[in-house]
Amino acid sequence: MLTEKIAIVTGAGRGIGEGIARKLAQEGATVVCADVNETDANSVASSLGHGAIGLRLDVSDSNDCDALVKNVHERFGRLDILVNNAGINRDAMLHKMTDEQWQAVIAVDLSGVFFMSRAASRIMRSAGSGRIVNISSASWMGNIGQANYAAAKAGVVGLSRTAAKELARSQVTVNAICPGFIDTQMTRGIPDAIREQQVAKIPLGRMGQPGDVAAVVAFLASDEAGYVTGEVINVGGGYVL
Ligand code: NAP
Repeated sequence: MLTEKIAIVTGAGRGIGEGIARKLAQEGATVVCADVNETDANSVASSLGHGAIGLRLDVSDSNDCDALVKNVHERFGRLDILVNNAGINRDAMLHKMTDEQWQAVIAVDLSGVFFMSRAASRIMRSAGSGRIVNISSASWMGNIGQANYAAAKAGVVGLSRTAAKELARSQVTVNAICPGFIDTQMTRGIPDAIREQQVAKIPLGRMGQPGDVAAVVAFLASDEAGYVTGEVINVGGGYVL
């Protein structure tokens, strides 16, 4: 159970982030749903209960990240759980990828995780406890058309493992989850034929749902997971097999 825990979930306005926010609230946490789309953040928060609130946040803006973490700390007096979920993709083959496509993905998917983790770690270090869960991707191992995304998501793995080492002495755990092929808006634009090809590669024979990822986040965010840190956990129906 996560009763009395205060959690921030970035990108909680829809998709996997919404699923994570929902699961953490079901477990009793008070969830701050932070999203660049304030309307979506508020709408998810208002459906959660347990004192959930929605706040606008652009994770690619370090001032925004510092201000949101400060706001949450002042409002609730603590911060127990940070889930860095917000992410975008701007796919293109390497030889066609624009500077804008590269920079946009690095800014949100990698710098965003750094800005939020830095701000949260200051509070968690002082408290001597905390949980940071970062949403990377199966693509970190390399994926055609995703040089920007794979680089950012591989960066998240390195950042998570380094933060885990640095924060261990403060009893703050940091882990990364690598979802496989999950049914959200991010994957809904994929043509049916390619979607079927991808599903055929998944031993469990189906796309994942946001709840499949959320269940693992809830475990890593719990007190019971206090001896698990620096791990990179695949949640992909066995795609790595
Ligand atoms: P999604 O449906 O596109 O949802 C992403 C959410 O993040 C949206 O609400 C989006 O807001 C928000 N967001 C975008 N940029 C942001 C920013 N700068 N600051 C704060 N919030 C921002 O994506 P998803 O599939 O749920 O993906 C969630 C995470 O899982 C991402 O990190 C993604 O890379 C990762 N992932 C997904 C899959 C998959 O198969 N779906 C697989 C592996 C990893 P808007 O509504 O304004 O866009």
